[in-house]
Amino acid sequence: MSLPIRNVAIIAHVDHGKTTLVDALLKQAGTFREGEDVPDCVMDSNDLERERGITILSKNTAVRYKETLINIVDTPGHADFGGEVERVLGMVDGCLLIVDANEGPMPQTRFVLKKALEKGLRPIVLVNKIDRPRADPHAAVDKVLDLFLELGADDDQCDFPYLFASGLEGYAKETLEEEGVDMQPLFNAFLRHVPPPVGDASKSLQLQVTTLDYSEYVGRIVIGKIHNGTIRVGQQAALVTETGEIVKAKISKLMGFEGLKRIDIEEATAGNLVAVAGFANANIGETITCPNEPQALPLIKVDEPTLQMT
Ligand code: GDP
Repeated sequence: MSLPIRNVAIIAHVDHGKTTLVDALLKQAGTFREGEDVPDCVMDSNDLERERGITILSKNTAVRYKETLINIVDTPGHADFGGEVERVLGMVDGCLLIVDANEGPMPQTRFVLKKALEKGLRPIVLVNKIDRPRADPHAAVDKVLDLFLELGADDDQCDFPYLFASGLEGYAKETLEEEGVDMQPLFNAFLRHVPPPVGDASKSLQLQVTTLDYSEYVGRIVIGKIHNGTIRVGQQAALVTETGEIVKAKISKLMGFEGLKRIDIEEATAGNLVAVAGFANANIGETITCPNEPQALPLIKVDEPTLQMT
């Protein structure tokens, strides 16, 4: 897992084409073998989790492009999930703002963009669904710029890179005149405009829990970003809880992301997004750290219903 990394969040108003676009990225990145079906609506298949009463709203996907691992994280668009949005944005160094070429920015675009700008992220703008007959992509870019200005974006943020795309037809391009071929222009934009994660692999471990999941075999799984240090499967680690309590446990399973799947890995270093089992009672916002000198990252405020496990 020592590939260069980019961590990027996708933000969009519902129906502006997030799911379709990520499917197109996955297909192009070759994470699916020939003939293997891409499941529909991969990014928002929350039914199982909902059934279990677990809050898991951000879906992680990863693709490899030009020897770089690009972690793509979904961001809930709804204001009810404000805390979740902030946590997701805290894991990434860039974001892709998808805007429907016809509708332009909508309320959820505004809500999530505001949070991204406040975090200091410089969004890449993707004007989507340009294949539609009444699409007006240039007008959409103008409206997006108006919104940036209205939300108080700085000069650098207002000078956003933008692309035109049809997730449905599987292409992105830099100008409307050129012919759309594939998703490469968007992959290139990720490499060019999303900074690599900061973090020091030689410091002691700090992993912040962003999302919770559950598996029948290993129990609670926490997903989060390694801000500093290295994590290894089998190692002893410490969880600093919300109340400051220190709980020691062994990392029983460590997974990275590849396409839509999770793959077992031996170790991962600062900048990576990983899924970890071993801490049965870990909660969102808490830090997994090294047992000798436990140092928590600042807690991220959670303003949504607490987790209920049965
Ligand atoms: P999400 O809610 O943002 O995840 O949006 P989806 O990806 O589910 O897309 C919402 C609807 O827009 C679906 O009916 C898609 O088929 C359609 N759609 C998505 N991308 C495109 C596109 O590039 N062009 C056209 N014409 N339709 C699209």
